[in-house]
Amino acid sequence: MFKLKSKKRSAETGEIAESEFSRGEIESEEPVEQEYQDEYPDQYQEPKPNKKIKKESAAPQTPLRPVSALVKFDHVSKVYGDNFSALTDVDFEVQEGEFISIVGSSGAGKSTLLKLIYAEEKPTEGYVYFDSLPLAHISRRRLPYHRRRIGTVFQDFKLLPKKTAYENVAYALEVCGAAAEEILEDVPQILDIVGLGNKMEKFPHQLSGGEQQKVVLARALIHKPLIIVADEPTGNLDPTNSMEIIDLLLKINQLGTTVILASHDREIVNKASKRVLVVDGGRIVCDDAQGKYKIC
Ligand code: ADP
Repeated sequence: MFKLKSKKRSAETGEIAESEFSRGEIESEEPVEQEYQDEYPDQYQEPKPNKKIKKESAAPQTPLRPVSALVKFDHVSKVYGDNFSALTDVDFEVQEGEFISIVGSSGAGKSTLLKLIYAEEKPTEGYVYFDSLPLAHISRRRLPYHRRRIGTVFQDFKLLPKKTAYENVAYALEVCGAAAEEILEDVPQILDIVGLGNKMEKFPHQLSGGEQQKVVLARALIHKPLIIVADEPTGNLDPTNSMEIIDLLLKINQLGTTVILASHDREIVNKASKRVLVVDGGRIVCDDAQGKYKIC
């Protein structure tokens, strides 16, 4: 049975317990920590994975240390070019299993914030942590492994037009060298989860906008990511299709996957009715557990 969520790393041991990842290259992610230690021995002082640590013998705290949150922004600022501040002193945590809506007007800094999570941009100041580890020094070689643990969904569907829904999702596995049996087993199951079990053989032009976005979600989920990062996923959809996508994101979240949604669509944020982070001028101006869209 296809299980959505892969396991989070233990902040104490660095170990990915009972990983549900089935492919070797994902399991080989463990050396990421070794890599940090090799490249930054004076900064990364935590014990290697699988070693139990006693509290009193823990290494002194440094900016680069495992943290318990799934995502942590530690006083992050981002300056584009010489002096354009897109984010200023952004500081928040996302716990595993949370659903967070990031709202704010156009240009507020929402996309920049998400780009820092999937490491398309680097902070100018501060640290971003993902799954207990700092992204600051992730090497180019390791980036694909990091990104595979984050499912991304954007406003533009970016499906391959000459491939069916099934083939679009299967392709994401093929390029990672997945076994044929795994593809045959997992792809129909994930398309079922997003409600497209009966439209697997349709091409993108034969699907509605909402259905195309569901294929994108299936493709994002096929690597069993720890988190779905959705940047204006309903930006090109009518209200009915938008509601279907938000319902699907809520379902995925109920099945265990953390969701971060950036949107300026009041209706879908209110429908989600989850924690809301308001970004204004690159700063977080509200962090509200009550779940309504607002501009603080
Ligand atoms: P939002 O997603 O809330 O619309 P963005 O994060 O895309 O906001 O952008 C925040 C600000 O940073 C905007 O003023 C935008 O023009 C600027 N910006 C975004 N990306 C770049 C870039 N690569 N170079 C320079 N400025 C950028």
